[in-house]
Amino acid sequence: MTSTMNGTTVLDAKIPEGPIADKWDNHKFDVKLVNPSNKRKFKIIVVGSGLAGASAAASLGELGYQVEMVTFHDSPRRAHSIAAQGGINAAKNYHNDGDSVFRLFYDTIKGGDYRAREANVYRLAQVSANIIDQCTAQGVPFAREYGGLLDNRSFGGAQVSRTFYARGQTGQQLLLGAYQAMARQIHLGNVKLYNRTELLDVVVKDGRAVGIVTRDLISGAVRSHSAHAVVLATGGYSNAYFLSTNAKACNVTAIWRAHKRGAFMANPCYTQIHPTCIPASDEFQSKLTLMSESLRNDGKVWVPADFGDQRSPEQIPESERDYFLERRYPAFGNLVPRDVASRAIKREVDAGRGVGPLKNGVYLDFSEATQRLGRHVIEERYGNLFQMYERITGEDPYVVPMRIYPALHYTMGGLWVDYDLMSTIPGMFVLGEANFSDHGANRLGASALMQGLADGYFVLPATINDYLAPLLGTNPVSTDDPVFKAAEAGVADSVKQLLSINGSRSVDWFHRELGKIMWDNCGMARSEESLTKAIAEIPPLREEFWKDVRVLGDGQSFNQSLERAGRVADFLEFGELLCRDALHREESCGGHFRVEHQTEDGEALRNDDDFAYVGAWEYTGDLASPKLHKEQLEFEYVHLAQRSYK
Ligand SMILES: Cc1cc2nc3c(=O)[nH]c(=O)nc-3n(C[C@H](O)[C@H](O)[C@H](O)COP(=O)(O)OP(=O)(O)OC[C@H]3O[C@@H](n4cnc5c(N)ncnc54)[C@H](O)[C@@H]3O)c2cc1C
Repeated sequence: MTSTMNGTTVLDAKIPEGPIADKWDNHKFDVKLVNPSNKRKFKIIVVGSGLAGASAAASLGELGYQVEMVTFHDSPRRAHSIAAQGGINAAKNYHNDGDSVFRLFYDTIKGGDYRAREANVYRLAQVSANIIDQCTAQGVPFAREYGGLLDNRSFGGAQVSRTFYARGQTGQQLLLGAYQAMARQIHLGNVKLYNRTELLDVVVKDGRAVGIVTRDLISGAVRSHSAHAVVLATGGYSNAYFLSTNAKACNVTAIWRAHKRGAFMANPCYTQIHPTCIPASDEFQSKLTLMSESLRNDGKVWVPADFGDQRSPEQIPESERDYFLERRYPAFGNLVPRDVASRAIKREVDAGRGVGPLKNGVYLDFSEATQRLGRHVIEERYGNLFQMYERITGEDPYVVPMRIYPALHYTMGGLWVDYDLMSTIPGMFVLGEANFSDHGANRLGASALMQGLADGYFVLPATINDYLAPLLGTNPVSTDDPVFKAAEAGVADSVKQLLSINGSRSVDWFHRELGKIMWDNCGMARSEESLTKAIAEIPPLREEFWKDVRVLGDGQSFNQSLERAGRVADFLEFGELLCRDALHREESCGGHFRVEHQTEDGEALRNDDDFAYVGAWEYTGDLASPKLHKEQLEFEYVHLAQRSYK
């Protein structure tokens, strides 16, 4: 929520008073409630059927609210969450290795390079244990140990084993659980599903979110949906870089259009580069593939110690290999957090020690683990990932070490939300990867699934009532209201405009060009010079898009070229804001690495005096001059320190 003081907007995160361990319980007691028989009088739209959206829709439906679920997929189960491989964190301490709610909280704040809100992160750690119980009760087939108890493995940035998993398909299994729970509510009539339906605008009346405007992707029909509250759970924006590990359909449209209606965009420059992806094999590739972080439990990362060593990896003796992560970070070894590992890999490849045909990777080697544990154990743990790697590269990773290189993977930035997950537009809530909330400047592995499900199963169902209770007795705004009609006309016009340009270049051409600008100038390393260059290059590309893009087909039938054109148009606007945010943040933190700000060892150097805040941008109508608002971060329980994994 925001308020105004002396003409400036003040961001109020509404963090509850009291000791951190009591905040969530106290807050749940203090918020206004909606009694069970009144819940059916409220209508809520949930956009996005990934883990965050599906779990929210299922929970809100179960509570008795009338829910509309909007997703552009044919089946909600196709949401990008299905791709998650490695696991989900929870502070269960099953291994009795010293884990606790406080340790998960501490690791997440430190892993995020001290740029996350303490109260949210503590709540996330508290709720993590409930998620595992909830999903197990739904029948999610988590891996089990011989004795039948749930198994755990380790992910980066932690020295305990707290990652629950279902082989290399954790996201898929969790999504099936959430989807089943939502399907039950669809069957009961509490949730109404609109599939193949894309949100193209958010409707705001008298300062509140009152609905959305969608386009039916099969018929092209533009339609208004009105409700008491709107929930966006529309995922992350990594595809602004064109090449990423995200599904091709992932986009920024929903949150960008909400931003243009008044929702502040927080920390858009916090993007995560994942160290273990299959290196690109040529410049026309349109997608990168992740090899799960779980592989770093047993895989050892190395490069040949000698420059230009042409021998095949098995011919290079131990003494002539450089296990550079273990050398540089002995305490965490191969399991340093993603930002640290990615930079270390980049450094080796930039120095000319890269391996593979294009010299653009490093080895991830399982030979030692295979000897120690036996091939059958490696197969059990990572079988499907090894199979996937072999299918893509034609190399058998049981015999030849995998090759990996960092790639764009996750976005910590997103719409600003308060402790209740409400954006700066009252009545609009944002969940999962679409919000900025819990991961600071770097997300730890296996924490995105945790956050999405925490938001959907536990946080929103306990906070949305506080917003709804005073609205009891009011009806949603009619979709005949001029505010809906104007938004519908705007959507129809922009579709018409895209189809009328009939230029000479494909949508993908513009997307690829934008991706190159973003990756070269605002990727793993950023500088004032490179960012200024990107900010100068994006507006002309955007202009060219609106003059010269060629969108084939029509607007009354299934047309993926048209769908993509709208999304790329938004990336072309959003990319500029991302670069402006990166330019203004004169420090390095987590995934945001400004070359001007680094330690002697080449690690990220924060500037806590000037930048320990969330940067939340307001749309002013002029893309060249967004307005910055700050939420100062207070660290009461974790002391600010230079991150060290040595
Ligand atoms: C390859 C890969 C592996 C990963 N592995 C892990 C892991 O092991 N552990 C972990 O914690 N995290 C992992 N992550 C990250 C994690 O999967 C995501 O952050 C998380 O699943 C996002 O969930 P979400 O519900 O927020 O969004 P999504 O799952 O992306 O869902 C977004 C939904 O929004 C809908 N949508 C978007 N825009 C619109 C629109 N305009 N109109 C209508 N609908 C719209 C889509 O249809 C979709 O249903 C991985 C990510 C990748 C790419």
